[in-house]
Amino acid sequence: MLVDSSSAAREVLTRRLQSAMPGIDITSCASATEALQRMQQERYSLITTALLLPDMDGLDFCRNIRSSKRHRYAPVIVVSSDADQRLLHEGFNAGVTDYFDKALGFKAFGQFIKSFLEHNPDLCGRILYIEDSKTVSKVTRQMMEQHGMEVVHVTSVETAQSLLEKSHAEHEKGFDLVITDFHLKGEMTGGDLLYFLRVRLRYSQQQLPVLVTTGNEEANTQVEVFSAGANDFVIKPLVEEVVMARVRALLLVKYQYDALLQQTANMERIATTDTLTGTRNRLYLLEEGQRFLTSAPNGWVLIIDLDHFKHINDTKGHLMGDQVLMAMGKLLNLRFSDSLSARFGGEEFVVVTHGDETPVRAEDLRIAVEELDPVGIEVTISIGLACMDDHPGDDLNTLLGHADKALYAAKDAGRNQAYVNKGDIIKPVALEIRF
Ligand code: GH3
Ligand code: MG
Ligand code: MG
Ligand code: MG
Repeated sequence: MLVDSSSAAREVLTRRLQSAMPGIDITSCASATEALQRMQQERYSLITTALLLPDMDGLDFCRNIRSSKRHRYAPVIVVSSDADQRLLHEGFNAGVTDYFDKALGFKAFGQFIKSFLEHNPDLCGRILYIEDSKTVSKVTRQMMEQHGMEVVHVTSVETAQSLLEKSHAEHEKGFDLVITDFHLKGEMTGGDLLYFLRVRLRYSQQQLPVLVTTGNEEANTQVEVFSAGANDFVIKPLVEEVVMARVRALLLVKYQYDALLQQTANMERIATTDTLTGTRNRLYLLEEGQRFLTSAPNGWVLIIDLDHFKHINDTKGHLMGDQVLMAMGKLLNLRFSDSLSARFGGEEFVVVTHGDETPVRAEDLRIAVEELDPVGIEVTISIGLACMDDHPGDDLNTLLGHADKALYAAKDAGRNQAYVNKGDIIKPVALEIRF
């Protein structure tokens, strides 16, 4: 939420934020009244405001935000032209989280907010809350919602289990945290839920943290809670600051675990991708190709080779040659996004794919390249195809051999053609399609 009376300022600041953090959602308002109204309808992770507003003093605006239910804890950043004495003296009491000196420039503003959000991640998760007491659950739920949490409350372990099983099976975005009472009225206790999560669903403490609430201060119960696989516990009656500190600490565990997974996936992608063309590299094809080929019926292998590529290099230069390879990679990723496309070497690509329509897709690809004209000169490809169904029992390597023979036939026949190796016969794909 960005609040500033000047429409020019709102526009520049919005643009700066968007370029620093692509995909960020920004609402901008011209007055405090308008902003407070919007904040009642929706929750914002961060609010920035000018100190001078047309309808309200900036610090009073902050006090207003702090007394609201939804944004009591939301960070508020004041954007001011000078860190005036009043801001320094009263600002933090009024609830200002930090301030940004406009003199540093708009670009610095984008970086400032970005860095602020990186250091203060908006730790608002989706919480599954199991508590059988009506009064306790009502108060606790309200408290967590005030801190921006999304709470799904159930009263029994059985219901919780079916919700967790469902999100587990459907690989949908499930819960970030489970908070469960240890002693419950039903057949099952918090201990049973922990067993279900850790042993049956195999969620680690990082993947799905569990916070247990207990009314029992006995050391035995605490030991039981931990050995059942809980991350932490809080003793009832719940104290808001204590619960929220634990909730945030556990959400941070989950948040960092997710970030690590994402990072690992990115690294893997980088290590298996050809940098020039953006298709997979040869190593990946050789490691994953066989599995991918047999992962669905009717597997096909295509070898795609650029025609007279040496000539393009010789006449247009190596850099232009690279441009052609890049364009080719982009086209393959676009047209065969459901398949495994890899740069096999030099100016040769391999696609592993499935389905009856593969010869048609190959022919369409050939025509698309003909029409591509990426660097202002004619570029064509020859394609060799081989299908699992024509060569039962053959593996990826053998199929690559068959496809290579078909590729040679296409080159021999004058290039810019697709040929398929049917085992007993090698023939143009165009014929295959027509009949
Ligand atoms: P054909 O139609 O028979 O396939 O002829 P061709 O010229 O394409 O085949 P040839 O194998 O004789 O030449 C391939 C050329 O591809 C030679 C090599 O310099 C070039 N090449 C290989 N890798 C790259 C690359 O990464 N960038 C560029 N620009 N050229 C490359
Ligand atoms: Mg209970
Ligand atoms: Mg070639
Ligand atoms: Mg070649």
